[in-house]
Amino acid sequence: FPQDDTAPTPPPQPGNPMERLATAAPEAVKRHALFRSLARQFEAYTQAARQALEQAAQGSLNPQRFLRLTAALQRLDRGLDHFDAAITASLTDVDELTGLLNRAAMERDLARELAHARRNQAPLCVAMVDADHFKQVNDTHGHDFGDVVLQALAERFENSLRPHDRVYRYGGEEFVMVLPETSLPDAVDVLNRLRLDVCATPIAQDAAEVVQFVSAGVAAATAQDDNEAVIKRADRALYDAKASGRNRVVAAD
Ligand code: GH3
Ligand code: MG
Ligand code: MG
Repeated sequence: FPQDDTAPTPPPQPGNPMERLATAAPEAVKRHALFRSLARQFEAYTQAARQALEQAAQGSLNPQRFLRLTAALQRLDRGLDHFDAAITASLTDVDELTGLLNRAAMERDLARELAHARRNQAPLCVAMVDADHFKQVNDTHGHDFGDVVLQALAERFENSLRPHDRVYRYGGEEFVMVLPETSLPDAVDVLNRLRLDVCATPIAQDAAEVVQFVSAGVAAATAQDDNEAVIKRADRALYDAKASGRNRVVAAD
């Protein structure tokens, strides 16, 4: 939480800062041990400060109390540093344009999902999805509108996937979906529904408007697969989807 000393001081708000933060923070953050520890450190610090101020007001601030206050402030400061580092680390997993998780996050999550599927002998599918003729969108309407289309795609993907499915921006106009506990025929159904959702309504901004189609390749993970192997099969199926006319889903054999 860097401080800008030149910024005007905001008007005081009721309640203590931790309470305000706790009201605004999502549940997952509030439950996090780092957040709870920060709340405890803040509580200890305010208590030490209150006691020291009371003593000072009576003209007898005891050095012991003052030391306790500075120690509490140091712990709070360290807690804030940890929290700050955790937020920064999480943001490095996020693609800046779409807000989806990025490729690095996908590599890490997929390795974990493959291990889980192997341990539980559960099915797992991976899909590679690519926007059709996307270069033409940029060429016709400009790169900024291309960005708008990628953002809309991300939103539509998220809306049409099931709660346990994950979507990542793999790079450019390519996305990866990880579908745990899903057989290949079910994954093909999910991807076909997603494909139809995406092109059901045009994507528009100002005068520009496109109906964007996508192609997908889907592969079922085997017990021998690592990330690279299963992604490669999904990518080859995507290539087949493109070669056979686009706007379709192809399952890897
Ligand atoms: P295909 O149907 O074969 O996939 O054709 P395509 O035109 O979609 O594929 P191609 O690989 O020829 O072009 C992809 C284009 O995506 C080119 C690149 O400029 C554009 N692109 C990649 N990342 C971004 C981005 O972040 N924003 C925008 N606006 N365009 C991007
Ligand atoms: Mg493309
Ligand atoms: Mg591409």
